[in-house]
Amino acid sequence: MADPTPTNFEAPADHMFPILTAAQQARIAAHGRVRQAPAGETLVEADDQGKKFFVVTKGHLNILRTSGDTEEVAVVPTGSFTGEVSTLSGRRGLVRIRAGEPGEVIEIDREQLLSLVQADSELSDILIRAFILRRLELIARGIGDVVLIGSSHSLGTLRIKEFLTRNYYPYSYIDLDRDADVQDLLDRFQVAITELPVLICRGKSVLRNPDNQEIADCLGFNEGIDRTHVRDLIIVGAGPAGLAAAVYGASEGLDVLVLESNSPGGQAGSSSKIENYLGFPTGISGQDLAGRAYTQAQKFGAQVLIAKDAKGLSCDRRPYAIETDNGQRVPARTVVIATGAQYRKLPLENLSHFEGAGVYYGATHLEAQLCGGEEVIVVGGGNSAGQAAVFLAQTARRVFMLVRSSGLTESMSRYLIRRIEDSPTIVLRTNTEITALEGINHLERVSWRDNRSGTIETHNIGSVFSMTGAVPNSSWLNECVALDAQGFIKTGSDLSREDLAAAHWPLARAPYLLETSLPAVFAVGDVRGGNIKRVASAVGEGSIAVAFVHQVLNE
Ligand SMILES: Cc1cc2nc3c(=O)[nH]c(=O)nc-3n(C[C@H](O)[C@H](O)[C@H](O)COP(=O)(O)OP(=O)(O)OC[C@H]3O[C@@H](n4cnc5c(N)ncnc54)[C@H](O)[C@@H]3O)c2cc1C
Repeated sequence: MADPTPTNFEAPADHMFPILTAAQQARIAAHGRVRQAPAGETLVEADDQGKKFFVVTKGHLNILRTSGDTEEVAVVPTGSFTGEVSTLSGRRGLVRIRAGEPGEVIEIDREQLLSLVQADSELSDILIRAFILRRLELIARGIGDVVLIGSSHSLGTLRIKEFLTRNYYPYSYIDLDRDADVQDLLDRFQVAITELPVLICRGKSVLRNPDNQEIADCLGFNEGIDRTHVRDLIIVGAGPAGLAAAVYGASEGLDVLVLESNSPGGQAGSSSKIENYLGFPTGISGQDLAGRAYTQAQKFGAQVLIAKDAKGLSCDRRPYAIETDNGQRVPARTVVIATGAQYRKLPLENLSHFEGAGVYYGATHLEAQLCGGEEVIVVGGGNSAGQAAVFLAQTARRVFMLVRSSGLTESMSRYLIRRIEDSPTIVLRTNTEITALEGINHLERVSWRDNRSGTIETHNIGSVFSMTGAVPNSSWLNECVALDAQGFIKTGSDLSREDLAAAHWPLARAPYLLETSLPAVFAVGDVRGGNIKRVASAVGEGSIAVAFVHQVLNE
């Protein structure tokens, strides 16, 4: 038998390739069949990785890169099992798995695996931890079937990097600004410099500046998800509120579909570290939190459509339907709207020219890498701006924090204010606003005005992190539900008699907590009027809404 230690993996092997006890193996075997695996048999191809799951009872399996027939990524030893995150989601996998010697395996289908992890919490812990660690390791080692060729000064490159990273998809990156030989590669694929960034997808398709939906299609993110049958619950938005509703809905037996226009995580996914969410005393990155929640929702059977925009709600008859970007209508008995909010844009004429090329709306490791050792600006006085300033101060030479009001105390948590005051790298400028952005392809200079003195200063700064107040993502709702003056969705007791009369509320009962002016349609998280803009409130509301979804389904 081969050395059971997986090759090259950095995370502890016993977590990534744990050995199941005889009793645990027997519980899995009860859902499948034991069979021989002759040496050299390919048990899993990347294209069908989500369909089958194997436990090795004799011999070992080799995990190979899909691009080569022989390069070994790791070994599954006797007693351990196959699978990674794509096994739960049912998406295409990233590796090929082959029997390394004559052996024996327990084989079970993905559906049976899903029921097993829902019912058996001991196995669920072992399997899901291993799946996540394996995916992280594939990402760390860039083992995948995607190559991105771009420039760190381009909005498209940053967007695609964010999209792949937030979907936990491994990729290799070639930076045109650093790699002189890349022209050969571009010539080989007949790509003009104007068509960048380029994504070489699954070693075959060459996508020129693709949008997120094209990438999702090429990588098969949404394959096999039925959009025609009537769901118990459709959730629009996969931020913390939507993911919480998905976890509770699916775990309580509802047929749940989530539509997400970008990637799971929402605003929280753009946070470097959330320190005030219960249960994480040392903080957790927004992306990590979102990744765990996303896996958890899938574990319970919720399906998530990625890069799929809800364009409208058909509300004239039931079942309602969500209209998607290709004109498709996805029907549902109940709907939870969790589309959140996005930052207000700075009122500067040439802002769009610099978005992604010096102006950023998130402060994660991706953006921090672009401005390490330099001076940067953070605009805004809320918690997200404070968090960004503290995070960037670890790598930037100096962080100017520009706030329009006269101080931070009203808008920011005390622990962040203290860190900002204590940081020698952060310079706080109150009563201050940006007046101009300058540069050719990338931001090079920024001017700001002190509104008390009227003085204007200009600095050679190439990175602005814009984190000002949020506007709700509610415009897609075609006036189906009542909104407040700022566009936030009104729910429950906030709906006045006049609101309900105007909406022709048809029922004898009043709207439930979190229910909108349209029966069976709920709103949760940042998009809801009166919501406290926190991860915890979003998660709380997402879970509470599901309790009322059950009531409505039983009416
Ligand atoms: C940088 C930053 C740091 C933060 N730090 C903290 C913190 O430390 N602690 C804390 O408690 N809170 C923090 N917050 C606030 C917290 O992240 C939000 O309150 C929370 O994310 C709101 O969750 P949500 O699900 O309601 O909305 P969002 O997070 O906004 O998610 C909404 C989702 O809906 C999707 N969507 C929008 N429109 C559509 C559509 N038409 N179709 C399909 N999908 C759509 C979006 O792409 C998005 O993924 C921070 C926010 C930011 C931006």
